[in-house]
Amino acid sequence: MLPCTQKLAELSWKPKGVILSGGPYSVYETDAPHVDAAIFELGVPILGICYGLQEIAWHHGKNVVAGTEREYGHADVQAKRHNGHVDKLFKDLEDDLRVWMSHGDKLGALPASFHTIATTKNSPYAGIAHETKPIYGIQFHPEVTHTPRGVKLLENFAVGICGARQDWTMAKFVDKEIARIRALVGDKGQVLGAVSGGVDSTVAAKLMHEAIGDRFHAVLVDNGCMRLNECEQVKKTLTEHLGINLTVVDASDLFLDGLKGISDNPEAKRKFIGSTFIDVFEAEALKIEEAAKNSPKAGPIKFFLQGTLYPDVIESISFKGPSATIKTHHNVGGLPERMMNGQGLKLIEPLRELFKDEVRELGRQLGIPHDLVMRHPFPGPGIAIRVLGEVTREQVAIARKADHIFIEEIRAAGLYDQISQAFAALLPVKAVGVMGDKRVHQQVISLRAVQTTDFMTANIFRFDWEFLERVSTRIVNEVDGVCRVEYDLTSKPPGTIEME
Ligand code: GLN
Repeated sequence: MLPCTQKLAELSWKPKGVILSGGPYSVYETDAPHVDAAIFELGVPILGICYGLQEIAWHHGKNVVAGTEREYGHADVQAKRHNGHVDKLFKDLEDDLRVWMSHGDKLGALPASFHTIATTKNSPYAGIAHETKPIYGIQFHPEVTHTPRGVKLLENFAVGICGARQDWTMAKFVDKEIARIRALVGDKGQVLGAVSGGVDSTVAAKLMHEAIGDRFHAVLVDNGCMRLNECEQVKKTLTEHLGINLTVVDASDLFLDGLKGISDNPEAKRKFIGSTFIDVFEAEALKIEEAAKNSPKAGPIKFFLQGTLYPDVIESISFKGPSATIKTHHNVGGLPERMMNGQGLKLIEPLRELFKDEVRELGRQLGIPHDLVMRHPFPGPGIAIRVLGEVTREQVAIARKADHIFIEEIRAAGLYDQISQAFAALLPVKAVGVMGDKRVHQQVISLRAVQTTDFMTANIFRFDWEFLERVSTRIVNEVDGVCRVEYDLTSKPPGTIEME
């Protein structure tokens, strides 16, 4: 993935083909991004998708106009037959291909030397191709799940037209990555990394362990806001099951004392937890470094492990330059400048070419247990951002217990792997209830469960009523201080997945 403004002359390798993606601009806007025209002379196949199609047209006569009607949603594409055959791009695809459209602009006419290879009712130029060169453009989006056969179309392009080999396998990736880590770190170099018990940091840590054994040092910081028994469990899995060299630092008092008094400012909570995490981690790193210096078998710590995934990389190559705020997950990274530059630590990012589902696949390949591999994401600040308002030990304990019941019931009902993220949050308000014939005035738990593939948008999970009732009854019965349970019905957007 490269920014669309990439200069071809500055690229050290020759691509097998080029895909121009969609984008929010209109090609004729004055500040719209344009590709280096040299790609059209490169001689390799090109596929333009939506904006990419419009870009191809713009470079071949500029005939792109604002459509009178925007087109968002499903459309049926008919591949055109020339001499009885559909174009290679549509090979083995249905005659009525269900696709997703999302555009406002359209081609006003065919660019010179192009012909139509597909149409829809609304789009006379749903697919076009150059008469002599392997240049293709499509108005619809094959890359989204709403285009069920989109992957086949992309395969037709990448394999059938570009001649790319399909030889990337997870097993090969593991071997290659381990070899790369060994070469990078050297015979004696050591690596430091934070782990949270989440999928990404665990998989990255296991890979490091496979590559350099105990010269990888994992640190788990207990911030006092983790789930019930989580710290012990993570410790057990990482050390006993996965053999990782792990240090656990119990800093819960430091975090919980510091959180006192922060009540109406979620960002202040996140910032306090983030910076305290870094302080604790840095102090521990210094100790490990000191010990490493005296080791006869190993040299100094040279690298810091970061669980960066490919979506973070994509975010950082926007054509406007790296986005201002790339998320720094402080549970797996985000070290202060003073450590990275001052101590000369370099980043090592073994997951930077993978998506979340591939990280899970890699985890399986490395023998990480199913439950851990399929674990829902858990935010770095943990329960602190699920206790709305002021975070105290008591409030964390209530939220933790309710969350435990909710997740336990989800697992018992066999729903855990169908849900992307689920948790209980504690609301900072009280409601009246009646328990044992006595009036009570107690707090409210809000349950949230969502389904999503990319966490950018999410839908609520549709439990059946009996399930929700069972969870509600258990929480009110078993968790002191709670007399009501609610279910959060807000999708993302407009809600976020977490409450704070
Ligand atoms: N912004 C362009 C349009 O509205 C392209 C949209 C896209 O690439 N999805 O037509």
